[in-house]
Amino acid sequence: MTTAKGLFTAGDGVGCSGHKFSSGSHAEGRIVAKSMLQYLRDEGSKVTGFKETDQELVDFTYLPVRNYLDSCDYTTAEDINPNYCKPAGMAMRLMKMTNEYGAGTGTFYMTNGKSLEVLMDLFEMFKEDLEKIAAGDLHELMRAWEINHRLYTVQAHTRHIQYREESRYPGFYYRGDFMGQNDDEWFCFTNSSYNKETNEWTLKKEPYHKIISD
Ligand SMILES: Cc1cc2nc3c(=O)[nH]c(=O)nc-3n(C[C@H](O)[C@H](O)[C@H](O)COP(=O)(O)OP(=O)(O)OC[C@H]3O[C@@H](n4cnc5c(N)ncnc54)[C@H](O)[C@@H]3O)c2cc1C
Repeated sequence: MTTAKGLFTAGDGVGCSGHKFSSGSHAEGRIVAKSMLQYLRDEGSKVTGFKETDQELVDFTYLPVRNYLDSCDYTTAEDINPNYCKPAGMAMRLMKMTNEYGAGTGTFYMTNGKSLEVLMDLFEMFKEDLEKIAAGDLHELMRAWEINHRLYTVQAHTRHIQYREESRYPGFYYRGDFMGQNDDEWFCFTNSSYNKETNEWTLKKEPYHKIISD
């Protein structure tokens, strides 16, 4: 279970590590499944569910299918349509944005405060267009939601880079406006939270405690 009560994760979903592996992810998956069952057994009565009705959740989940069915006959090539965007195109767009502005290979892992500001604006535009994502089959529906959730992950990640004002290398990222490693600032955790109602992120630093001394 994560620090958010009732929220479970495993494998790459856990974060806090750039290098996860398939065997470990599989083992964590088994552990988390057992923990979820334990939690439901012990505290299931406290699980309140969603504030939306079942029908509202169904409509929300299947919106990409609705977008597709409403407009797919408008053009002869179903993936070129002025009324919707397909998941493959949106995935490419998200990768291009972060590659160029968020310290990707396009800039040899280099970014800076201005590029990150541009990236945050691009995210907002992307979010608006996500309402028009269209799924022609169940696989695309899965992809549509995957990209939706990926946006939040990428946003959190790049906001941490924006907040920390540091370079970290080799292999992580360079802030062109804050070059040089600064261990005094680096050894701490950055915690972020997102407010769904106001669409605002807040970040703070938390101390890092060394469990094994040098
Ligand atoms: C390029 C690369 C090379 C790697 N090489 C190795 C290696 O050699 N050896 C090794 O051990 N590990 C390797 N790894 C790491 C390993 O692949 C991952 O750590 C592992 O696959 C993570 O498993 P997971 O189940 O946590 O996540 P994933 O395998 O990413 O599974 C998450 C699944 O959730 C689905 N999903 C996402 N959102 C939704 C949604 N809303 N609804 C429904 N489904 C959704 C996704 O489509 C995906 O199938 C590599 C990783 C990468 C990227």
